[in-house]
Amino acid sequence: MKLDRVKADHPTLAPLLDELASYIHDSVSAGTTGIEPKLAAAKLRRSEAEVLALLMLLEKAGLVEHRYDIVCPVQNAVITSVKDKKDIEQALAEIEDAEEGCPKCEQLHELNDVRIEIVFEPKDDLFGVTSDRAA
Ligand SMILES: [Zn+2]
Repeated sequence: MKLDRVKADHPTLAPLLDELASYIHDSVSAGTTGIEPKLAAAKLRRSEAEVLALLMLLEKAGLVEHRYDIVCPVQNAVITSVKDKKDIEQALAEIEDAEEGCPKCEQLHELNDVRIEIVFEPKDDLFGVTSDRAA
């Protein structure tokens, strides 16, 4: 399993990686599509920077994939998501230019009004949730 390889490469982080994997598994079971470093850090009682670093290790191993959620601050709802950092600007411009306003709250948002959050999507067949293809 890929997680075992990450743990073998970073033996001192192995217990923490297990905790994080277990958190991701629980979140996916609960219907989450993206892991927020902030929430994971609170759960694991670690710093956000530390958890972010762990998630990036998992991403390098192909276990998760990051995306950027652009979040309506009024409804606290995701307006749109982009995979690539360079696409954020375009997505923000579309939100600002939308004549009908924000699709979530119908207000007009300024660019610095909406929140941008990095989240990590667990890959389908990992973490034993959609287990058909998992080995
Ligand atoms: Zn809004």
